[in-house]
Amino acid sequence: MAATDDSAPDDRTQTAFDAHHAPDRRLIDTCVHCGFCLPSCPTYALWGEEMDSPRGRIYLMDAGLDGRASMTAGFVRHFDACLGCMACVTACPSGVQYSPLIEATRGQIERRFNRSLADRLFRAAIFALFPYPARMRVALAPLALLQPVARLFRAARARPEGLSHGRPRASVGSTSPGLFARVRAMLELAPAIGWRSLFARVPAHTSAIGERRMTVGLLTGCVQRVIFPRVNAATVNVLAAEGCDVVAPEDQGCCGALALHAGRLDAARAFARRTIETFERARVDRVAVNAAGCGSSMKEYGALLADDPAWADRAREFSARVRDVSELVAELGPPRAERHPLALTVAYHDACHLAHAQGVRQQPRDLLRSIPGVRVVPLAEPEMCCGSAGIYNLVEPEAARDLGDRKAAHVEAAQADVLATANPGCTLQIAAAARRRGATVVIRHPIEILDASIGGRDVGA
Ligand code: SF4
Ligand code: SF4
Repeated sequence: MAATDDSAPDDRTQTAFDAHHAPDRRLIDTCVHCGFCLPSCPTYALWGEEMDSPRGRIYLMDAGLDGRASMTAGFVRHFDACLGCMACVTACPSGVQYSPLIEATRGQIERRFNRSLADRLFRAAIFALFPYPARMRVALAPLALLQPVARLFRAARARPEGLSHGRPRASVGSTSPGLFARVRAMLELAPAIGWRSLFARVPAHTSAIGERRMTVGLLTGCVQRVIFPRVNAATVNVLAAEGCDVVAPEDQGCCGALALHAGRLDAARAFARRTIETFERARVDRVAVNAAGCGSSMKEYGALLADDPAWADRAREFSARVRDVSELVAELGPPRAERHPLALTVAYHDACHLAHAQGVRQQPRDLLRSIPGVRVVPLAEPEMCCGSAGIYNLVEPEAARDLGDRKAAHVEAAQADVLATANPGCTLQIAAAARRRGATVVIRHPIEILDASIGGRDVGA
């Protein structure tokens, strides 16, 4: 295997890694190169290129550590193309911990690789916007005003014949996607959003119905609270109906998931410390999360702050309290609130950061099956990422679009009434892909479906 065969020699400006949080050699050495992970890797499925597989990327990390590869544009492209979906972790029989490896690699890239000016500005804009709900509201306000124009744009983009922009690409490409492709992806992903939704908030404190079982803190999320506040409202309703006091601290900020998954480790640590402090002040028994990416990063705080003596114990203790809301509903035990029947066929899409990163697969399905009348049907290629992956569909729009089209075709084939998924990024990504196919799909968080059942309502169109 050639480590950097797609890089020009004069591109070799730096050794790949320095000593500050380099990928851990011991973790790399657990890979026995068996290749069992290859079929489940989305980028390997797209391009069939070894260096865009988990095994190839681990090989590149190894080569970067011992000086056989340097921090070239070609080297970086293979890691930029990785979705961080962790399907390889699920598939690996040797228990390779790919998550800390890719996070360390991305941390090195963010510190040491000189991206193009356009790339840097685009990424800076994303990180100046998405972790800050107030800024996101300002940015999305024109969309709320221009809903009719946005609808026209979407209708013009819809192509009932299937894949949207010709044949999928054959490889990762040697340079980062251009600004035009990225802005187009942003417009395609933009949700239909109204004023009410933009400024909706859940109460800071909601009392349990009946005898209290526990006090739960709710992470309201950045994208979730601005674009899908109905998911937070449903989470509060269900937890209160099941006997939980629900606290949603008003001063909570971003959990740091986007920064962590992009290798912006100092920013991720700062967000983590603030989140820990906020929920410590709230004195909660559990912290409920309804966004898969946020939950997975909050469960990683212990590792993220392990080298910080002032925070290591607090971070570990905090992570131990974090639950996806479906885990929490299961943990609460026998349901208290009556489930009213819903005659629905529901296809469940496993968000990668829930299924692969947190190992939560059964609880959301059980939650749905606890509703009389609900039939849960499988999707083809359930392990395969939809292409959302944090900011991936913004910075790598072509690969994300190919994966989104692939997922939307499976959703269509399932012929369900509703698609259920537990991550706002997946919801936006699959909705956009369905629109490109000229299809409309009703997408709901599992907790919204349960809330509708408890409330005796339908799930809405
Ligand atoms: S995280 Fe996903 S995209 Fe990256 S190597 Fe693993 S399976 Fe492939
Ligand atoms: S990551 Fe795991 S499955 Fe993939 S090649 Fe290495 S040992 Fe095999």
